[in-house]
Amino acid sequence: MKFPKEVRIYCPYCKKHTIHEVIIVKKRPRSKLSQGQRRFLRKMKGYGSFPKENPKGREKPTKRYDIRFKCKECGKIHTHGKSFRIKKLEITKIS
Ligand SMILES: [Zn+2]
Repeated sequence: MKFPKEVRIYCPYCKKHTIHEVIIVKKRPRSKLSQGQRRFLRKMKGYGSFPKENPKGREKPTKRYDIRFKCKECGKIHTHGKSFRIKKLEITKIS
């Protein structure tokens, strides 16, 4: 799927349609201080197995993309719907 680099959509902060820059959010490293991650790291210590195995044969064939829009007038970033699964996402420049 191809997506334009700039789109004209509604900005909830400016309360009008403005030009937005399209940003693909990249995966960040897991926060080591969250409760789940602390529990996981404690479980992984020493001997013993991985807490829970992922179910086999149900791997997803596609990657989830999270698209954000940055308003060019106020500079704030917001979403427009949820993230979605797609094989390939390209941001193209349309002049
Ligand atoms: Zn704005």
